Amino acid sequence: MISNETIDTISLHFLPMLPYPENALEPVISMKTIRFHHGRHHRGYIDNLNRLAERTAFAGVPLMEIIAETASKPDHAAIFNSASQAWNHAFYWRSLKPRGGGKPAGALMNRIEASFGSFDAFRKELVAAATAQFGSGWVWLAEDVEGLKVVKTANADSPLILGMTPLLTIDVWEHAYYLDVQDRRADYVNAVLDNLINWDFAAENLV
Ligand code: MN
Repeated sequence: MISNETIDTISLHFLPMLPYPENALEPVISMKTIRFHHGRHHRGYIDNLNRLAERTAFAGVPLMEIIAETASKPDHAAIFNSASQAWNHAFYWRSLKPRGGGKPAGALMNRIEASFGSFDAFRKELVAAATAQFGSGWVWLAEDVEGLKVVKTANADSPLILGMTPLLTIDVWEHAYYLDVQDRRADYVNAVLDNLINWDFAAENLV
């Protein structure tokens, strides 16, 4: 026998645990930044989503489906923003790992070279996109039928709504780096690429 209370509980979205301890990304990303970013910002998107979805047709619907059904619909902007930010942040945590960085190997490296000419050309394009993104947003390595591409998106948007497959992301909202490097976004992006980016995760996401 399932009570109404149980049904309400199972329809909720939950904050995913970090795949590493809060201090594991230091010194590039401090424990203080991670605590605010995961414990306050990411949690805030989940809490907002649950509040907005409660007693609507979106209650209990998986994030990807909410994102697909609400993208580019002004009437659903608030729930889209919360659901997409919830998804983006879960993907961001997995795009990083302690002692990551460097270069990918195997099939992913071959695909990067085929799409960008060289790893260095890809990296240059990613850093340029991250610094060119005006205001809050995200930079991504994503895949579509033409190959791999660097994509930058504003606010809560992601390659999912462009019909592309995200391989990895770097959050370039100020809350991701301001406590650590203030306005030096390029320093943060370069340090993430050198030390934290999770190429194994990106390779797993290849179509
Ligand atoms: Mn963020």
